[in-house]
Amino acid sequence: MPDSSELQAQHDELRHLIVGLSKHSVSKSCYPELQQLILDLERSRLLLDQSSDAVMLFAVPSGQILDCNETACRFLGRSLDILRSRTLFSLIDPATEEQAARLFSDAQIGILRKETFTSTFATAAGTVFPVEISLKTVKIDRSIFAVADVRNISERLHAENVLKESEARYRALFEDSRDAIYMALPNGDFTDINMAGVEMLGYSTKEEVFQLNVEQDLYADPLVRRQLLQRLSDDGCLKDYEVLLRKRDGEYINVLLTSSAMIGDHGSIIGYRGIMRDITGHKKLEQQLLQSQKMEAIGRLTAGIAHDFNNILTSILGYATMVDLKLAEQSPMKKHIGNIILSAERAAVLIKRLLSFSRQQKISMLPVDASSIVISTGNIIAEVIGQDVTLDIMPSNRELLVNADRGQIEQALINLITNARDAMPHGGTLRIQCEPYLLGDDFIRQYCYGEPGTYALISVADTGTGMDSKILQKLFEPFFTTKEVGKGTGLGLSIVYGIMKQHGGFINVESALGSGSTFRLYLPLIRQEKDSARTRASSE
Ligand code: ADP
Ligand code: MG
Repeated sequence: MPDSSELQAQHDELRHLIVGLSKHSVSKSCYPELQQLILDLERSRLLLDQSSDAVMLFAVPSGQILDCNETACRFLGRSLDILRSRTLFSLIDPATEEQAARLFSDAQIGILRKETFTSTFATAAGTVFPVEISLKTVKIDRSIFAVADVRNISERLHAENVLKESEARYRALFEDSRDAIYMALPNGDFTDINMAGVEMLGYSTKEEVFQLNVEQDLYADPLVRRQLLQRLSDDGCLKDYEVLLRKRDGEYINVLLTSSAMIGDHGSIIGYRGIMRDITGHKKLEQQLLQSQKMEAIGRLTAGIAHDFNNILTSILGYATMVDLKLAEQSPMKKHIGNIILSAERAAVLIKRLLSFSRQQKISMLPVDASSIVISTGNIIAEVIGQDVTLDIMPSNRELLVNADRGQIEQALINLITNARDAMPHGGTLRIQCEPYLLGDDFIRQYCYGEPGTYALISVADTGTGMDSKILQKLFEPFFTTKEVGKGTGLGLSIVYGIMKQHGGFINVESALGSGSTFRLYLPLIRQEKDSARTRASSE
């Protein structure tokens, strides 16, 4: 179907022709041609009226309506006769009048052109609706006209609004999600990411993340991404895949990734979209639970064996002592039985240690100043540590009262100090410090254990060999040692662990290979009820 404005022009040309013809006295022989012309004119009128757009003809420059199709009458709710008394300018939104006026004045100086703009039309009933107007100036004979194709764009605008609203809804869903949602190109450039994602990766703006390359900058192991891409290309998607990512500060986070490939028109992968959930906290908690369950199980096993073994040892020692008493001083057996007694006694010491790990040993708790334990232990360790180790004891200048078995805490410190010495065969610095510590939510979030409150924190820090993550995982297990046979029993730290558990405290360690270790013991402070009672008494 030809352009409606062209139809209009054609229509007007025909009309013009007929009017011209009728002015001249037409001979009868011309009738068939004339009838044909009238037929053509009616046909084009029919086509015009079929158009779902309003087609209108205006006089230039007045803008007066000269003619229009039926759709225009329907749009405006007025008959053609009534419309003929109106101008274009009375129909459209005054804000858009200027565009039409400029087109008209251009036409008067010979510039015929077409302009498309959006405006509004008002019906006779006063309803205003949005329209898109294509207005074109034409010259027929010496007169200038303007033909308009007017389209009602209410539905289009409505559809656009619906689309905008739905886009806004999904954008909100995208932005409000607590999981990271992103889109990336196959080359690893991000094309979109929500704020949860930006924060998860430790950045503050999306632009910073757009500078990154997923593979090089985020994946702890770039090879893993390549494997994932292979899976995405094979299966199209992957669900709940655990990956290790590097944050801006270099820290690693465990994330659960669900991703799918976006396929382009030609069937190839044009990008990926995915959702990531940070499960670092969960993992820590899981490991912490596993660790404490493991220690609990080992403790129970050790306690059972130690008890039975202790009974056996008691009877070995009892009978051996009886034999020893019965033997004459000069008996050659005397030496052998002496060795049996000595070995049994050594075994008993070992059993005692095992019992202290499994928290089966009786302890007597009394209020004691944690700093004073640090000072007294400091006094007796001079001979334990070598001369090339610098000792730095830093007690607190405040009394830090804890409920503790003094001997047990000293034992724990000596075990830590012995290990520190072993870790510094060529000397170094050993610092033992005691200070108050306010344990808060940050601590609990980081370690996944702990009770909020105030604690006496005793730290034992060395500048020795340090430990790798493999050692750190097994550190507190009984019989775990990296020392050669005869040098280590692997019980030192398990005893410290048991002692801390019995005191309702915690122990943790910070260490890296080659940069020393710091063990920290947290003992809950006794609430200063006496003090507050005293203040109350004095204020009364
Ligand atoms: P042992 O000292 O008998 O080996 P422990 O339970 O005391 O047993 O320690 C277990 C292991 O932990 C040690 O063998 C050592 O590998 C490691 N370790 C403990 N403390 C330190 C430290 N301060 N520096 C380096 N490694 C340590
Ligand atoms: Mg040790």
